[in-house]
Amino acid sequence: MKRLPGILVLLLAVTTPLSASTRVVTSIPDLADLVRQVGKDRVDVEYIVRGDQNPHYVEVKPSYMMKLKSADVFFIVGMDLELWSQQLIDGSRNTSLLVVDLSREIKKLEVPVGTVDAREGDVHRYGNPHYWLDPRNIRTMLEEIVVALARISPSDEEFFRANAAAYERLLDQKIQEWEEQIHPMAGQKILTFHRSWSYFAAWTGIVVADQIEPKPGIPPSPSHTADLISLVRRTGIKVIIVEPYYDTGAADQIARSTGATVVRLPVSVGGVPEAKDYISMISYNVRMLFTALHG
Ligand SMILES: [Zn+2]
Repeated sequence: MKRLPGILVLLLAVTTPLSASTRVVTSIPDLADLVRQVGKDRVDVEYIVRGDQNPHYVEVKPSYMMKLKSADVFFIVGMDLELWSQQLIDGSRNTSLLVVDLSREIKKLEVPVGTVDAREGDVHRYGNPHYWLDPRNIRTMLEEIVVALARISPSDEEFFRANAAAYERLLDQKIQEWEEQIHPMAGQKILTFHRSWSYFAAWTGIVVADQIEPKPGIPPSPSHTADLISLVRRTGIKVIIVEPYYDTGAADQIARSTGATVVRLPVSVGGVPEAKDYISMISYNVRMLFTALHG
């Protein structure tokens, strides 16, 4: 072996970490937050889609493939939320990448009976994939995360398990607080832009009367908007939720004709500046929705 010049040896010594962390990529930032809660400083976590971007549609970039190329694990929401994920996985040419679909053990909502005609553009072909907006689903997701990280780094399993348990205790306490805040609003009807809120609604008891998109992924049409205006007038709906990455044009039009209020609520960490992590994202949504429905 050739001897390396002294300066190079020194450089290698300071740039090589003492213990190799597990390298994780997640599709959305919410999953990255959960992985950080479990793995702490023993994982390096990156995500692909920002919280203010539509997770269904992502431009496949070589830089995303590079992230996956050097990763040990790729966590996805699954149920085809990430229509783009397979292209990234193939493009990364990382044959040892462990891909973990966190939807496996989730009790799924709105799973279509029979086949869905994909030509209609419905992006929820395998049911509704926005399950992380029900915080009661996080426990199931954490378990999958612990198992996957421990597969990569078996000696850290106890550490991962203890961290997950501590986070679950915090989350249980938060769920109780959130329920106390939002349950008085159960039964109230809202409109949403996309069908992102089904699990949140199932948890809180708030009723999503309809969506501005005629079907998930299909842009609003004038006739559907007209139908929604009469629905809002008839039922006294006060609030229209629009996710950060959709245009508020149709919602504003309905609001102007009916007196309802348009509220921008994040569905992911980073969707608004206040949503710094998963818990602050749900806290923000509960608080804003309570205020909007109450006011
Ligand atoms: Zn969707």
